[in-house]
Amino acid sequence: MPPLNAPYAIEHFPKGRDLLRQPRWNKGSAFTEEERRFFHLEGLLPPQVFDLNTQISRVLKQLSTIEDDLERYMLLMSLASRNQTLFYRLVIDHIDCIMPLIYTPTVGQACETYGHIYQHPHGVYLSWHQRGQLKRILSQAASPNIQVIVVTDGERILGLGDLGAYGMGIPVGKLALYSACAGIDPQYTLPVLLDVGSNNKTLLDDPLYTGIHQDRVRGEAYDDFIEEFVQAVQHCFPDALIQFEDFANLNAFRLLEKYRNRACVFNDDIQGTGAVALAGIYAALRITQGKLTEQRFLFLGAGEAAMGIADSIVTALQAEGFSLEAARACCYLVDSKGLIQAQRPDLNSHKQHYAHPHAAADNFLEAVKSLQPTAIIGVSGQAGAFSAAVLQEMAACNQHPIIFALSNPTSRAECSATEAYYQTQGRAIFASGSPFEPVRYGERLYRSGQGNNAYIFPGVGLAIISCQIRQVEDILFFVAAKTLANTVEASDLDQGRVYPALKHIRGVSLKIAIAVAEKAYELGLAELKHPNNLAEYIAEQVYQPVYPNYLEADTD
Ligand code: NAD
Repeated sequence: MPPLNAPYAIEHFPKGRDLLRQPRWNKGSAFTEEERRFFHLEGLLPPQVFDLNTQISRVLKQLSTIEDDLERYMLLMSLASRNQTLFYRLVIDHIDCIMPLIYTPTVGQACETYGHIYQHPHGVYLSWHQRGQLKRILSQAASPNIQVIVVTDGERILGLGDLGAYGMGIPVGKLALYSACAGIDPQYTLPVLLDVGSNNKTLLDDPLYTGIHQDRVRGEAYDDFIEEFVQAVQHCFPDALIQFEDFANLNAFRLLEKYRNRACVFNDDIQGTGAVALAGIYAALRITQGKLTEQRFLFLGAGEAAMGIADSIVTALQAEGFSLEAARACCYLVDSKGLIQAQRPDLNSHKQHYAHPHAAADNFLEAVKSLQPTAIIGVSGQAGAFSAAVLQEMAACNQHPIIFALSNPTSRAECSATEAYYQTQGRAIFASGSPFEPVRYGERLYRSGQGNNAYIFPGVGLAIISCQIRQVEDILFFVAAKTLANTVEASDLDQGRVYPALKHIRGVSLKIAIAVAEKAYELGLAELKHPNNLAEYIAEQVYQPVYPNYLEADTD
């Protein structure tokens, strides 16, 4: 194996087929004739030498001949296992069409059938049966240079529920986005699946299920396992950031509270979602010409995403001078039992923060009618819950109703883009969690934005690892949200889009990373000595997928 950090030492390179099996170094048909001779590749590749762009056009052609997105996903994952440079160049250059294939919505489909489409292992699996040995296994299974870990226990995969070990598709996809969207070098990333069983009977009965066949471990035993994992990470990769991903909300909030001051962690479903939605709201207010302080938000769903977003709005309102109570009073939430209000007896501490005095409402439409919100935010996983009646009511009480249907994948969205625009006579400001095709209503073509966390977490992560930020405070996500909102151009808003076009995402992530790093230095959260030119320094950390000419490069 070549050393992991460039520049590489040519004399240590594997040769022949071994080199073709190294996704980081493999160039496939792009190895030059000289390289083919030097690395003993002659005869192992077809004679024609291709450049990276031609290789990309070949993959695009292959993708275009496949009808099924899941098969396209498989082709792309297989490419990632063979040739990392080609994979990332393709993702970056064609992010609009590739991102929905490697992340939502296709990744949801992939996770549901992960054991059936399984070809290559990606990431590291740590199962309950291996408790007591996590340090050893982690140190054997990954390089010591790991800097970003995305970890899930597979219990709340997107809006699809408990998919157990099949949840591995999510950390794999998220880390691909870290590298594609912010340029975090893939060699420093590690997807981890903690397999503590599954309560999904269909999976456990499936002979192709790849996880351990037992019910989920709960209680103290579960907490001990997570504790062992966090300690193992701190031992094996002391600099690593841990992103908690798709844990069910009974664990997500607890784990975040437990570890946020003890380790470098954040929860993307809570904090990342909060920031991306807040950014969309700031941008939407540029269309409505309204002020944040004048809004009333009504959420459908009161889980991780809803609390993350509501708490972000509260932070933003406090920054505008509101007291904590006044800020919380701007957010109302509806869960599966109806409106959360002061008389409800069954509320956990998070929900209690938003339990305001108000008449009970059994369903969402009733709540919309009685509260007359300026914005509704769907984070319930309930497809179609923003019914025609709900949308019409929003249109009746607002000139420009803000309608965010954020549930993933597309099949779980509370309403479609078409429904949002048609039921509001084109007046809605709409954003979704998974992408929708543009919608024509009357003379106008609406290209609604995707409130994708990928606008936030890669840039935040780039700041954290570049500047050795040791604690991920909420304020860093607030800074990320404001920075993201400022990247939305008038031309985006003209098309109804409250997020920048995806093709700009690398530039956006860099801006976020710089802003977050500046804030971290201001607060004394960064360990790295302040670089002379912070922006230049962070830009230098960005991974660029290009083929080196191995025989011309420095041999260190
Ligand atoms: P969660 O399990 O923590 O919360 C789901 C919430 O929905 C719970 O409060 C539950 O009570 C509520 N709910 C369920 N059925 C309901 C019903 N019939 N009526 C009203 N409320 C109901 O999950 P989460 O992490 O909050 O995620 C929820 C959804 O948001 C998922 O689909 C997820 O994919 C999506 N999400 C989107 C983004 C994004 O677009 N950027 C980010 C995070 C989550």
